[in-house]
Amino acid sequence: MIIAKILINTSVKSLNKVYDYIVPELLEQEAEIGKRVLVSFGRGKNTEEGIIVKLVEETKEEVDKRGYKLKEISEILDEVSYVDEERLKLAKYISYVYFCNVYDALKLMFPPGTASKNSSKNLNTKQDTRVMLAKSPDEIMMDIENNIIKSAKHIQLLTFLMYNEYVLTSDVIDGLGISRAVINTVVKNGYITLTKVDREVDLLKDYNVERTYAKDPTPEQREVINKIGSYIYDEKYRQCLIFGVTGSGKTEVYLQLIEKVLNQGKKAIVLVPEISLTYQTVTRFLSRFGNNVAILHSKMTIAKRKEEYKRIKQGKVDIVIGARSAIFAPLDDLGLVIIDEEHDSSYYSQTTPKYSTKDIAAYICKTKDAILVLGSATPEISTYNKAKNGLIDLFYMKSRPGIAVLPKIELIDMRQERVLGNTSVLSTALKEEISKNIKNNEQTMIFLNKRGYTSYLTCKSCGYVFKCPNCDVSMTYHKTNNLLLCHYCSHVERNIEICPECGSIDISSGTIGTQKLEEELREVFPNISILRMDADTTIAKDSHQKILDKFKNENINVLVGTQMISKGHDIANVTLVGILGVDALLGLNDYTASEKAFSNIYQVAGRAGRAKLPGRVLIQTNDTSNYILNSIEENDYEKFFENEIEYRKTFGYPPFLDIVLFELVGGDFKVVREEAEKLYNILIQKNANEYRVFSPKSPYIQKLNNKYRVNIIMKTKLSTRIYNIIYEKISVYNKYKKKNVSLTVSKNPTFIN
Ligand code: ADP
Ligand code: ZN
Ligand code: ZN
Repeated sequence: MIIAKILINTSVKSLNKVYDYIVPELLEQEAEIGKRVLVSFGRGKNTEEGIIVKLVEETKEEVDKRGYKLKEISEILDEVSYVDEERLKLAKYISYVYFCNVYDALKLMFPPGTASKNSSKNLNTKQDTRVMLAKSPDEIMMDIENNIIKSAKHIQLLTFLMYNEYVLTSDVIDGLGISRAVINTVVKNGYITLTKVDREVDLLKDYNVERTYAKDPTPEQREVINKIGSYIYDEKYRQCLIFGVTGSGKTEVYLQLIEKVLNQGKKAIVLVPEISLTYQTVTRFLSRFGNNVAILHSKMTIAKRKEEYKRIKQGKVDIVIGARSAIFAPLDDLGLVIIDEEHDSSYYSQTTPKYSTKDIAAYICKTKDAILVLGSATPEISTYNKAKNGLIDLFYMKSRPGIAVLPKIELIDMRQERVLGNTSVLSTALKEEISKNIKNNEQTMIFLNKRGYTSYLTCKSCGYVFKCPNCDVSMTYHKTNNLLLCHYCSHVERNIEICPECGSIDISSGTIGTQKLEEELREVFPNISILRMDADTTIAKDSHQKILDKFKNENINVLVGTQMISKGHDIANVTLVGILGVDALLGLNDYTASEKAFSNIYQVAGRAGRAKLPGRVLIQTNDTSNYILNSIEENDYEKFFENEIEYRKTFGYPPFLDIVLFELVGGDFKVVREEAEKLYNILIQKNANEYRVFSPKSPYIQKLNNKYRVNIIMKTKLSTRIYNIIYEKISVYNKYKKKNVSLTVSKNPTFIN
């Protein structure tokens, strides 16, 4: 008898156990590790989804010896297994490191959509029918000679099939002008057979792109390509960081590295941030590699994504390009993973399992002896730290191909503006530069940051942001009870009326909107063309792209917008970028706020002067001595890094210490609070030197979907030992835990609120 060990899909946290089921004889052929099944589970008649993790032979006696009756698998759901032993191991790793169920981790590796035989049949939405000879050409020729086959149409069809290997019914009908009825008759006479085949995907046609070929690399590019290329030939795990300014030709380097990996008979995954997985990016890969590319994008329909998954699984493509989850694409012979814009926060999953894509990619590349390449103009602090410590090979790309140069960046002191009596949101300098641009018929982008404004408090006179005295992050402003709260240590401040820096009473948490900004611009420049891009103007589908196209094609004077304008086209004629409202970015209540601010503002600044015309960037701020802005002004990432890494060290943030976040969620605030106290008390018992636990507190958004949340933060250096302690504590807590409260644990979350 064959016994299957099944892992059940259940939300019960402690259930990572496997259960034995008998594989009925009828299903023995189909049963395979990694296929999903339906089984009855528990006392009732509940059917649950599970996955086969192991198959073993047992004699009838061994089965009977258990003393209880084993149930049978009811149904096998997958036609093809997407999870082999290696992937099971990966799922277990994810489950362990990110505190989640193994099954939740496995879900990352299944094809999109739900499992069921029917839906996997639907996979073949686009099918053709292939026509093949059922008899040998000799036999058929004989029958023609002997007048057994008489019809000229039949003879035409059969001889065509003798000379052509791969013929579809559509070829016969459209190409030969033979009707479906004739085909059916020849089938009935036993000369041909019809089989369903997948229609060949033609992305080149779908995307309407033309093939392009490798550019002659610049000396800088050549060095990177040769060096990483040699790693690719070595087929030994390596991690590399390409630190290249925007427009330095990183994408061209990626394309040529992929060529090398293909020559090696291996395959590649390219990850890009969801937001930049645009038509432009995709076509750059398609035009170089044609239909050898599969695209995985969350905006594609499930059917389309399934189709891509199937092409990958069937080995029809060598390159997968996609957002975060594409790291789990079922690609064999992986030789290279590229993560573009590696600093982007979309590489951290915000839903369970809350994984770091870069960590998973490193794990996968290690097991496959593949090369991992990270690229950015503003690397994440912990990535660059690793590179500096020799854990990642570092490659610089400092110049742009051709004659484009980096823009000139200047800080405008808004406090000074107000002293001089300018109450407008636009500084005098920015107004002057805009009018210069209008005169020269060059274009301007004005970026208004709105992120973070609601949740913090600032002095309007001196720009002071209220910070926690213990943690040096800005405190979160809770409007309802008018208090400031630190989300790391729970420090509270009430009744803030006076700025501790300058004594002003002009304290607020508000900002102006893009609409107001547009109005002000129209007042100052009544006769110019202005476009606005924000949440209001981009509700319709594709409107984002349409606004950018219009801005470019109609040579509109000014584009005003929120963070949405920071990613997108290179528009050659944009020579001026104004950046407003950055102060809120400078002190968000999160330890990653500074690096996000740096890369965000730097990205926007990079919109200026992408081509021949040199660019200027004006950044308006109340805080001209801020080190983030100063580093941007001087185009000096290194300076920013040195400051930032020192801060992380002093205050105990990653990469020096890890943060473990325990989130309790439930419908009754009092109960959630009590549960948090309970967990807190378990966590602080003993082990005092190995980690610090901060007392439970409510996040900024306390109530979400009618559920209350309470957080506990732990700072520690995660190691196997600490993981084991945490798991032990969780299992102690689970014994006493109330059912209507749930606990999720995450490692180094990028947002704590
Ligand atoms: P990045 O990915 O670093 O932002 P890109 O790869 O997009 O940079 O390159 C910026 C521009 O320079 C693109 O228009 C690209 O076609 C062009 N480019 C890149 N490499 C070369 C090269 N070797 N020769 C000529 N043009 C190049
Ligand atoms: Zn002040
Ligand atoms: Zn604090």
